[in-house]
Amino acid sequence: MSSRPALRQATDLAEPARVAPASGGLNVEQALQLLELSGLPAPAGEPGSTVWVQAVLDALVELTSRDAMTGLANRRAFDLAIAREVDRVARSGEPALLLALDIDHFKRVNDTWGHAAGDQVIKAVATALTDSVRPMDLVARIGGEEFAIILPNCATGFGLAVAERIRRRVENMPVALPTGQQIALTISAGGAFAPQWVRSTPALWLERADQQLYLAKAQGRNLVRLEPTSQPVVSNEEKQLLFDTTMFQDFE
Ligand code: GH3
Ligand code: MG
Ligand code: MG
Repeated sequence: MSSRPALRQATDLAEPARVAPASGGLNVEQALQLLELSGLPAPAGEPGSTVWVQAVLDALVELTSRDAMTGLANRRAFDLAIAREVDRVARSGEPALLLALDIDHFKRVNDTWGHAAGDQVIKAVATALTDSVRPMDLVARIGGEEFAIILPNCATGFGLAVAERIRRRVENMPVALPTGQQIALTISAGGAFAPQWVRSTPALWLERADQQLYLAKAQGRNLVRLEPTSQPVVSNEEKQLLFDTTMFQDFE
């Protein structure tokens, strides 16, 4: 995906930066202007020095990875992170959970309270999501009022508890408008685990989480739905039954 839409979204500039003019190299003036407009601190170091150039590049990477309204990872950063996580799960076999979340009846918020109040609600939900998960989890805004969370190394037994904690936090967090009025809101969430030891793709994984989100919406909203994990749960008694049969006696 090109970084142009992210830059444009991050700064509300009418024109995207010309990053690679025909002469080659970076248009530094425009890069600095972008950073200033986005509110990022001025790059450290002596202008023109290696340290300074590195700081400018780091700041540009940060700018193209963040959603300007919420400060969360943007869609571009999410796409990169989910691809990395699919690889990591395939290598390590550690379970990872992907949650897709969407604010319930958000159009009503905009219609009733106005677009600015809607923006305030999106920011409040972003903060609630970030505060509900571990620092190692990646919270992203992947659409207008749609979010996704990648939770690496999340045991399958904990998935529902994590998602429920997030849902309840939003439910118990009315957003106060500058007028003093309060907006009550809820979210729905769908989740799916990356298949362990099986190679998946980011698109398939997100689709499975989205299917669960769709179910949560269809079943009434303010709900969490996780895809059932396909790991067979075999009790000790069942193992005993299996290996105590005469079938396996030849192997003893
Ligand atoms: P549902 O419970 O089915 O999700 O219903 P909904 O009303 O939330 O429906 P939907 O998810 O389709 O609503 C998305 C709305 O979000 C439509 C769009 O106008 C609004 N929206 C998208 N991005 C922004 C934004 O950045 N700010 C504001 N204020 N509104 C936004
Ligand atoms: Mg939506
Ligand atoms: Mg919605």
